[in-house]
Amino acid sequence: MRFLLLSCCAPCSCAVIEKLAAEKNNFSVLFYNPNIRPLAEYQKRLNENKALCQRYNVDFIELEYDNDRWCALTKGLEDLPERGERCSICFGMRLRRAFEYAKANGFDAVASVLGVSRYKDLNQVNRVAHEEAVRAGLPYLEIEGRKGGMQERRQQLIKELNLYNQDYCGCKPRENS
Ligand code: SF4
Repeated sequence: MRFLLLSCCAPCSCAVIEKLAAEKNNFSVLFYNPNIRPLAEYQKRLNENKALCQRYNVDFIELEYDNDRWCALTKGLEDLPERGERCSICFGMRLRRAFEYAKANGFDAVASVLGVSRYKDLNQVNRVAHEEAVRAGLPYLEIEGRKGGMQERRQQLIKELNLYNQDYCGCKPRENS
């Protein structure tokens, strides 16, 4: 099976990419994150994620930075808390594009690391992802990024590789972080 792994950033994806690469899975990493602002921050995360993939010899694909469309889709929801409806729309937009890209380019499935961070509601990510999977007619693979030592490995790799590790998700500074 050849699959696409939607990644939001290097710190969330490092342990997953390391494991998938070590297991010799056939996958590419997709960077489609028009939710990240400002543009300089987007570039920083993009470059860090690209360099991480080079380290593990994993194919890396960047798609368009259509932040205007992201803003239009989430208009009016700016003040909702993280894990709320704005995040469902944000996950849906990015996953829908990932499935579209996967279908158009011969991938058999999509996976993501959008729910790896402890700030995220993994059930929310999985629910939206499976809705998009049904819509696209391709499976969504739930890849473990938290349990079984994955969080610990993630923290280790962030330190070991000196990864740029931002303190907010993407669209605005995190409150009480
Ligand atoms: S907090 Fe993160 S997931 Fe939620 S809307 Fe903003 S960028 Fe998207």
